Amino acid sequence: MNEKPAGEARKNDYEYIVIGSGAGGGPVAANLAKAGHRVLVLEAGGDGKNPESEFRYSVPGSDPRLNSELGWRYWINSRAKQADREKQHFYVPGKGLYYPRGSTIGGSTAVNAMIALYPANSDWDGIAKLTGDRSWDASSMRTYFERLERVRYAKPQPGNPERHGFNGWLPLEQVGAKGNLFKDRWLSQYVVPRVKGEENGDLFEAAFRNGGDFRIDPNDWSFAQRKGTGMADPPRAAENGARHGTRELLLTTQAQFPDKLKIQTDCLVTQLLFDEEHKNQVIGVEYLEGPHLYAASWLAEAFSSRPGVKRRAFAAREVIVSAGAFNSPQLLMLSGIGAKEELQKFGIPVRIDLPGVGKNLHDRLEVGVVCKLPFTPTAYQNCTWGKESDPCLVEYKTNNPDGEYRSRISRQMYIVKRSSPDRDVPNLCLFGIGANFRGYYHPEHQPATGKDEFTWFTLVGHTRNAGGTVALKSTSPREMLEINFNLFEDGTDTAGEDLEALVNGVKMCRKLAAGGWDGPAEGELSPGPDYKTDADLTTFCKNEAWGHHASCTNRIGPDGDRFAVVDSNFRVHGAKGLRVVDASVFPRIPGLFLVIPTYMIGEKASDSILADAK
Ligand SMILES: Cc1cc2nc3c(=O)[nH]c(=O)nc-3n(C[C@H](O)[C@H](O)[C@H](O)COP(=O)(O)OP(=O)(O)OC[C@H]3O[C@@H](n4cnc5c(N)ncnc54)[C@H](O)[C@@H]3O)c2cc1C
Repeated sequence: MNEKPAGEARKNDYEYIVIGSGAGGGPVAANLAKAGHRVLVLEAGGDGKNPESEFRYSVPGSDPRLNSELGWRYWINSRAKQADREKQHFYVPGKGLYYPRGSTIGGSTAVNAMIALYPANSDWDGIAKLTGDRSWDASSMRTYFERLERVRYAKPQPGNPERHGFNGWLPLEQVGAKGNLFKDRWLSQYVVPRVKGEENGDLFEAAFRNGGDFRIDPNDWSFAQRKGTGMADPPRAAENGARHGTRELLLTTQAQFPDKLKIQTDCLVTQLLFDEEHKNQVIGVEYLEGPHLYAASWLAEAFSSRPGVKRRAFAAREVIVSAGAFNSPQLLMLSGIGAKEELQKFGIPVRIDLPGVGKNLHDRLEVGVVCKLPFTPTAYQNCTWGKESDPCLVEYKTNNPDGEYRSRISRQMYIVKRSSPDRDVPNLCLFGIGANFRGYYHPEHQPATGKDEFTWFTLVGHTRNAGGTVALKSTSPREMLEINFNLFEDGTDTAGEDLEALVNGVKMCRKLAAGGWDGPAEGELSPGPDYKTDADLTTFCKNEAWGHHASCTNRIGPDGDRFAVVDSNFRVHGAKGLRVVDASVFPRIPGLFLVIPTYMIGEKASDSILADAK
């Protein structure tokens, strides 16, 4: 293992190898290629280019995570005790809790809900303080957002005080025309009186001053600076109603620079290769070529007898690991970088003893309050979700700006709030959408949903629990990890702040649903009228909470910080020619949504790599 390749000439066809094409790896690979370097991207997922996957990928109203060419499904545990796990409604006997990820060109940006929200300034200032590296402070980090973002709706202002980019690679749109958020009869009848009766912060006020236009921009620099709250139509990563992410960035860059950027799909990287003559210098990777080789693939069982073709690739300069919060630590551990005792359990020779690898796993938490509406909305009655002659698909393809598939996701409203006044930054996002949504179910266990149901979500960001772990189950690179989020009393949030924030959020949602009254609304299906007291709601939240923003498992920290895995330039401590750039590097989970901060660090990392190349 890890030996200098024998019997195979080391051919430096590439200067850089990027492992994974998601929110972290995509910008790194594109920027290095644009700067004139030869880059190889190795992506474990497929290209997702069959018609069904393309439909699922681009149409906001579809659910791409279940498409076997786009998504992976992990089995995780969120609680330590089996009895507690079984109470959770996602629990699948003998497996665990289903946890979605993306695996194709674009990674999880290919399956995510496309909500694109700027994080809190304190997220960046915290990293600057931790590392002593001022390039991480909030004002400096804003330049990476300016670089990536493209918005049609924000008007360039003299001096650009709101610090938007206007011309980056990531189109963000709020598709509702003026006041459109409330133009749906059903939505306006149901939502408007409810949210109007609430204190909804400065965005809400601004929208009404603006004649009911909710396309005010929560990504403005001034909103971040004043730690603003309020209600808006959330910006999403789309152009003309079609999803955008690192997939478009990479494919466009490849078309422009075909001799610089090579993207190989269906390639599962299994090992980092080191040059034994130069201690801990990474020189390349070993990988298996073939579809559905990783156990999290929906089709893994059908492909399990196929060994894949073993190959190697070499990088003259660096290898960048961007395989996400689960697979990046897995690859480091399989390559001998991790906690000594854990590697030794599996007989893996220890190359760099870094006990932080796979620790500090964070997620934010969500629960839904589901209500039966007192009427049947008409908006999506006729949609058949991609089946033949689907009228909503026809409407989508004819570019109708009010089309259901084009705008259903954007036509949620969301409210940014604090769970309690003593919170420094807003840590709650309350949404409403016309569906029964109690989290990401495994499809075999998905309950039927009525078209007259509405969900008010609570999302808790800036969570306190840092007690999650990912650990190897074996030395097989094809096997999934043991993933345990250790939520609530199993984790590090001993003061119970995450749970308290969830319960407060559920109470706020209930109040919205009930039109200002504390307690279950008429027609509340979940939690339902049996859940009355705070203790009842605490039980409900423990059993219901879900997340899909796994992060922080290779955290940044300075030299001498025993649990730091990478330095402030993303370099793995103790290794040469090796960086990690993805959601695993955050010391604490940033913002309310993860993708924008991850794109921003992808941009930042490419600057660091290019600076070192000079
Ligand atoms: C269902 C869902 C909905 C979401 N909704 C939102 C949202 O609305 N807004 C938001 O901000 N965030 C959302 N997120 C989260 C966000 O998309 C992710 O946090 C973000 O994409 C993480 O970026 P990453 O680079 O760390 O990993 P990913 O984007 O997951 O990319 C990792 C890539 O690495 C590949 N890979 C893994 N192992 C290997 C290997 N060994 N060899 C080669 N390739 C490998 C994977 O196939 C994958 O393509 C959502 C996530 C999910 C799953």
